[in-house]
Amino acid sequence: MEEIVIIGSGCAGMGAAIYAARAGANPLVLEGAQPGGLLTTTSDVENFPGFPEAVNGFELVWKMREQAQKFGARIESAVVESVDFSGETKKIFTSDGKTIEARKVVVATGSSPRMTGAKGEAQFYGGRGVSACATCDGAFYRGKDVVVIGGGDTACEEADFLTRFCSSVKLVHRRDAFRASKIMSDRVLSNAKIEPVWNSVLVEVLGGDDGLCRAALVKNVATGELREIPCSCVFVAIGHVPNTKAFEGALELDADGYIKTVAGTSVKTSVENVFAAGDCADRVFRQAITAAATGCMAGILASQH
Ligand code: NAP
Repeated sequence: MEEIVIIGSGCAGMGAAIYAARAGANPLVLEGAQPGGLLTTTSDVENFPGFPEAVNGFELVWKMREQAQKFGARIESAVVESVDFSGETKKIFTSDGKTIEARKVVVATGSSPRMTGAKGEAQFYGGRGVSACATCDGAFYRGKDVVVIGGGDTACEEADFLTRFCSSVKLVHRRDAFRASKIMSDRVLSNAKIEPVWNSVLVEVLGGDDGLCRAALVKNVATGELREIPCSCVFVAIGHVPNTKAFEGALELDADGYIKTVAGTSVKTSVENVFAAGDCADRVFRQAITAAATGCMAGILASQH
């Protein structure tokens, strides 16, 4: 029987692991399908306090991991498929058929990129011209024309990042103003390689004879006009959905799948001794620092006797 199991190994999971390990609770971290979480797919993180020159996302979360291990956290490769939180002993079922039992659990499973659902998007996803991660895939499109979908900080950051490699970036947004912070919007609007395509949504990813993306078909939602934008890749950056499927029926979730937490504590869930931290329970802030901070809170509460 484990004392504390932390599900997820991003900023929230590592925040919880550092605090629980330093409290002597010997936590076990199940690292999930994406070790290190979403931050590993980010380039420069400019707003994590303590790094005035910015820090690489992968490096930042990997240092958190080293820090947790230094204090005794154990990290295992496992993907959680379902749980049974009904009894005093919490049961965690992994995709390789194991059952792990724990007295306390911190859920820190983060979120995954949301996709548009447009025709062709799934068909060309994964190396054929649709991507949800410019940091991961941008370098494959050196000297090419690409499209980014979205208007938030992620879309603007990805569009800006892609101009390091690509000839041109069309930034397709469904409204006529970015949701992104002023600094990111200004950066995009002053970048000559980026052309915003306002009031437009992706209708279809069009393929060529070679089975790769050749263009994005977008529709102007104000005029109904269709436009084919030649491109080698469509980068989708329209937000995220919480990774909480494994907890359906076991924890209270809101209508969009975020884990509900008790007001005032931020990290207590509907089940005693089960805590939630980071993006799986946060639809508002979703920052590396808030994930690490709620991880810290969950780690402290879970370590209390
Ligand atoms: P977000 O802020 O939720 O923005 C999502 C964008 O995608 C919005 O512009 C939204 O349009 C659009 N969108 C959503 N669903 C769509 C759909 N089905 N079709 C077309 N467009 C759609 O998500 P995010 O950009 O991933 O950012 C998430 C959080 O992380 C934010 O709090 C952000 O500030 C933060 N973040 C910070 C940094 C940084 O500070 N360096 C970098 C990345 C992210 P509408 O605007 O019309 O809703």
